[in-house]
Amino acid sequence: THFGFRDVPVGEKQKLVGQVFTSVARSYDLMNDLMSFGIHRLWKRHFVAVSGIRRGDRVLDLAGGTGDIAALIKPVVGEEGEVIVGDINAAMLNVGRDRLTDRGVVSGLRWTQLNAEALPFPDNSFDAVTMAFGLRNVTDKDKALADICRVLKPGGRALVLEFSRVQNELFGKLYDFHSFQVLPKLGRLFAGDADSYQYLAESIRKHPDQETLKAVMENAGFGRVEVRNLSNGMVAIHRAYKL
Ligand code: SAM
Repeated sequence: THFGFRDVPVGEKQKLVGQVFTSVARSYDLMNDLMSFGIHRLWKRHFVAVSGIRRGDRVLDLAGGTGDIAALIKPVVGEEGEVIVGDINAAMLNVGRDRLTDRGVVSGLRWTQLNAEALPFPDNSFDAVTMAFGLRNVTDKDKALADICRVLKPGGRALVLEFSRVQNELFGKLYDFHSFQVLPKLGRLFAGDADSYQYLAESIRKHPDQETLKAVMENAGFGRVEVRNLSNGMVAIHRAYKL
């Protein structure tokens, strides 16, 4: 492929992820609906519902992209709380800011361009850090998770929503077919960009499964890591605490 997504050296990953999301930013929301048959909206709502985030909380939504998660969290934390959307990609942040401003439903969000591996916040700053469909794009996950732990207040929680391992074999086969046959074609048809969607399918396959990610989070310094499967493990929620 002309982007050379296959077997690229680790150092190149960040640049490629940047190209992918700049390329898909404008079609990102539509593609999410097409690829998941709209189910990503339910996953995100469920994610926020079980997050334990409360009125008045200070929350960082990492890899916040076009702001789906932040839009759901802001009404929960209310006027006295704060939600910061952090993402490495300016194009994604711009699309999100424009979209949410147009809808007029969410005000009082802060949008910040940042790298999840080096967060520009002091220690013990947040009650919760959320990261939805972001961790698998980060080059050094250990570093990012350790930094998330650092910026959380003691007792604060990290919430990760990410693609994971489907539990049922037949369902897994259908899912692979969807990911590798259907998805790149949808990408070509609706976003004019099959390569980026091929990258997405591959990044999903390479991402650690439920138990592996749990261990990675424990190694990064988190305690009481709980895992919840959604849609037969197609995605999972990891909830962990800074003890
Ligand atoms: N959370 C949003 C959602 O659920 O719709 C967006 C998810 S999108 C699949 C992944 C996002 O991760 C992209 O916006 C991308 O720019 C961002 N990202 C990738 N690497 C990152 C990094 N190192 N630091 C911060 N954000 C990153």
